[in-house]
Amino acid sequence: MPVPFLTLVNDMRIVVVGAGLLGLTTAWYLRQHGLDVAVIDRAAGPGRETSFANGGMLHASQANPWNEPGVLGHALRMLGQEDAALLFRLKALPFMLGWGLRFIRHSSPERYLRNFEKNAHLARYSLAMMADLRASVGTGYDYVARGTLKLFRTAAGVAAAAQMCRQLTDWGIAFEVVDGAGAVALEPALAPIGAKLAGGLYFPADEAGDAHRFCELLAAQCAQRGVVFHYGSTIKRVLRSGDRVLGFSTVSGDYFEADAFVLAAGSYTTPLAAQAGLAVPVQPAKGYSITVPAGAWAGRPTLPVIDDSLHAAVCPLGDRLRVAGTAEFAGYDLGLTPARVGNLFRLLQQLYPDFTAHLDPAQALSWAGLRPMSADGVGIMGRTALSNLYLNTGHGPLGWTMAAGAGKLVADEIAGAETALDLTPYRLARFD
Ligand SMILES: Cc1cc2nc3c(=O)[nH]c(=O)nc-3n(C[C@H](O)[C@H](O)[C@H](O)COP(=O)(O)OP(=O)(O)OC[C@H]3O[C@@H](n4cnc5c(N)ncnc54)[C@H](O)[C@@H]3O)c2cc1C
Repeated sequence: MPVPFLTLVNDMRIVVVGAGLLGLTTAWYLRQHGLDVAVIDRAAGPGRETSFANGGMLHASQANPWNEPGVLGHALRMLGQEDAALLFRLKALPFMLGWGLRFIRHSSPERYLRNFEKNAHLARYSLAMMADLRASVGTGYDYVARGTLKLFRTAAGVAAAAQMCRQLTDWGIAFEVVDGAGAVALEPALAPIGAKLAGGLYFPADEAGDAHRFCELLAAQCAQRGVVFHYGSTIKRVLRSGDRVLGFSTVSGDYFEADAFVLAAGSYTTPLAAQAGLAVPVQPAKGYSITVPAGAWAGRPTLPVIDDSLHAAVCPLGDRLRVAGTAEFAGYDLGLTPARVGNLFRLLQQLYPDFTAHLDPAQALSWAGLRPMSADGVGIMGRTALSNLYLNTGHGPLGWTMAAGAGKLVADEIAGAETALDLTPYRLARFD
C-alpha cells in the first residue's frame, strides 16, 4: 500500500532509511533545508542498533583507519585467540574475501596516510557541527567536553603513538604527550596504577556522550520540525528503473516513493544497495560494550580513557561507566561471547582497581553492535551512480564522531547547497 507523504513544503521529498546516528543527522539537516523528509526504521525507536551503546567518544584524535600498515601480520598473529582484540570467525571469511583484500590493500603506508587525513578533516568538521546541533538538542545526552587520554604501558608505546599522531597537528587536531604522573594529574582515578603507566597522549578537543540518548533527543527535534518517522517498518525490496530508484517496499506491504533516497542503514546498507545494483564495500565488525552504574563511587573517573594495550576504552557517561572495544568479524551475528564480555570487566578493574568494591556485574548492561566498516576505513557518503540514491554509511569505529558532519554534507549535497568539504574522496565511486 503506498504510504502518503506529509504536506509538501517544497517540491522535493526524501526518504531516509535508518534512524541511527547517520540517518538522523542527515534527516535533520535535510529538514533544515526545508525539504520534506520521512525516516524509515525497522526498530521501535531511534538509535536501537549500532548507535545504541557504543564507546561514547567523539574522538577526532582516533581518526586513523584500522587498516594501518602491518595490520595483516597483526590479524594473523591473533588468529584462533578467543579473547583477541581482532578476531576473524571462519564462517564469515568466505563472505568477506573481496572486502578483505581491499582492506589489506589500503594498509599500504601511502593509502593509510591519505585515508587518515580524509577522516581527520571530516572528524574536525563534524565536531564543529556537533556544536551546531547542541544549540537545538542541548547537552542532555551526558555530554562531556574533557578530551580523551590514550594510555600506554611502555615508553616505546608512547613514542610510537606520538610519532604516528604527528600529522594530527598539521590537520588541526592538537595533542600533548604526558608521563605517568601527568596522566594521573589529568584523571586522578588512575592513581592506584600510576606507577605502571609509561604515559599517554592527551587530546583536549575530543568530546563524549551517550549516542542513544542523543538519537532520542535529535529524533524528537526532527519530529517537532515536521520529519515523519515510520518505525517498525523493514525495507525488503528496492525497486529500480534505469538509473533511478523508484521506491522501497516493506515486509508489511507498504511502499515508499520519493524524489531521492538515502541509505543510512549501517552494515545493512550493503544488501539493500545490492538490490539496486550497487556494490558497497562495507562489512559488519562486531564490538562489545558493558555499561555499569558508578554513582556510588565518589572517586569515579570523569575523563574518557583509551587503554592501548587492552584495545578498549572506558568512558564516563553521567553516573555510569561505559567500557567498549574489540572487533570480531563474524558476519551479522550479534551473539554475546562470554570471553569477550569478560575482557571488558577485566579491563575496567585493571584500569580502576578502586572500582571493584562498587562493581556489581548483575547491574551491568552487556551489548554488542555491528560497526559498518568500509574497506578503506573512510565513510561512504553522497551521490551514487543512480541519480536519486545517496549513501551515508561505512563510518566504522568513528560513526559517532562523524555523524554530525556526514549528515550535514550529505544533506547539503541533496539540497544542492555548497558542501563545506569536497565529497569526491568520500563517494562510493572512489572504489571503481
Ligand atoms: C562497541 C562499539 C563501540 C563504538 N565506539 C564508538 C566511539 O566511541 N566513537 C565513535 O565515533 N563511534 C563508535 N562506534 C561506531 C558507531 O557506533 C557506529 O559507526 C554508528 O553507530 C553507526 O551508525 P549508523 O547510523 O551508520 O548505523 P545504525 O546505528 O546501525 O543505524 C542503522 C539503522 O538502520 C536500520 N535498518 C537497517 N536495515 C533496515 C531495513 N532493512 N529496514 C529498515 N531499517 C533498517 C536499523 O534498525 C538501524 O536503526 C562504536 C561501535 C561499536 C559497535
